[in-house]
Amino acid sequence: MTTLLPYQTTELSDEIDPCEKSRLEGLRHSGFAIIQTTHRRKDGSTFPVEVSMKLVHLDRDYVVCAVRDITERKQMESALAETNAKLSIALEESKKHAQEAIRLTELVDILQSCHSAEEAYQIIGNTLPTTLSSPAGALCVTTPSRNMVEAMATWGDTLATEKTFAPENCWALRRGKIHQVNNSTSPLRCAHLSGCPEGGYLCVPLAAHGETLGVLCVERPPQSLDISLRSSEDQAEAFASQASAVGERISLALANLRLREVLRNQSIRDSLTGLFNRRFMEESLEREVRRASRNKEGVAVLMLDLDHFKLFNDTFGHQAGDLLLRGFGDFLSQGTRGQDVACRYGGEEFLIVLAGATIDAAFKRAELLREDLKQLTVRHAGQVLGRVTVSIGVSAFPDNGATAEELVHAADKALYRAKEEGRDRIVVAGALTGS
Ligand code: GH3
Ligand code: MG
Ligand code: MG
Repeated sequence: MTTLLPYQTTELSDEIDPCEKSRLEGLRHSGFAIIQTTHRRKDGSTFPVEVSMKLVHLDRDYVVCAVRDITERKQMESALAETNAKLSIALEESKKHAQEAIRLTELVDILQSCHSAEEAYQIIGNTLPTTLSSPAGALCVTTPSRNMVEAMATWGDTLATEKTFAPENCWALRRGKIHQVNNSTSPLRCAHLSGCPEGGYLCVPLAAHGETLGVLCVERPPQSLDISLRSSEDQAEAFASQASAVGERISLALANLRLREVLRNQSIRDSLTGLFNRRFMEESLEREVRRASRNKEGVAVLMLDLDHFKLFNDTFGHQAGDLLLRGFGDFLSQGTRGQDVACRYGGEEFLIVLAGATIDAAFKRAELLREDLKQLTVRHAGQVLGRVTVSIGVSAFPDNGATAEELVHAADKALYRAKEEGRDRIVVAGALTGS
């Protein structure tokens, strides 16, 4: 539609926004202007129009206006803008996912290099707030007895879990699947949590090779993207699948660590008594001798042999003998300090490395063990088994030997003398020069 209007018209448009008005000023300066505005139909509804205007001079100034309905163009423009916005969000998200995947791979890599589960728990607690963009959470691990779950790492303070709780108190552990709570008023909150964050949380069960390892509890991150383009349900679903992927990777890493610990234990421990094995003791003793030599300190060796154990076996049976050996192993573990190494040397012979001990201190420890053993009772088939006594040979660095081998040999000789002198006694090795 083209019209010719006097220049000073006020009817160029029904409603011209201030920005378009400034364009209208161009008409005055250059004689030409294009503006977008709306026109009102008779029924009161409006539609967008583009008005091209040219100033013409006839008898006086006029404006030639060409008005075009641009409803369709506007619709296309807004659809295009929406698509662009969605595209840039998708792009942002795919960048975010790529970064998350990199961070997760790094985390798994680091977990694989951990020496112990404790080290891994600490790393998980430190990295998950960023890897999962979760403001608060906890990594809870099932205890070996499987009847309790313990929080090993926590972050943030808006999702407080009990330090230890029964597996039944977590819906995810009870049902064996991810448990989502959408808001703080939900009645389905897990009992191990003392509160629920505004935006809800997730409990992701951790399991690998058919074994339940624990549960990962994570608060949902605040909704950061434009909710008109991505619904809150979509965002919740994306976070759930991300948390579930993280849970899966952590489970595998923790299961591998546990397996490694079991294998390591098997390689350094005696299966009957749970004490260290001879190979591990030999390595430890060599290390302790080097340390003692460097620091001018002592290190002592106790060699123990149960008295008349063959008779014990003959009287109560080999199975009862095994039970007694196991009981004796527990007795030695309880009677040794953290830095000492108690090992099953072979059969019913045992050896204890006392780090930093002098010969006097070692003798006192041996005497204590010999006396305390008299209190040890072991039951088999409803029957209390007969008591046993022990003979002990003692040697110490540097007086009875300069190397691990010499120390063990000296303690063995002293033990032999203890047996000869009547058993149930302690003999200290003679000094190197005199023996
Ligand atoms: P002594 O007082 O001289 O030491 O007498 P002993 O009978 O203890 O003699 P010795 O130390 O030579 O005997 C070791 C016995 O320990 C022989 C063997 O039957 C028993 N024994 C060794 N290993 C095991 C084991 O793993 N289980 C059981 N039940 N018995 C074992
Ligand atoms: Mg014996
Ligand atoms: Mg023996």
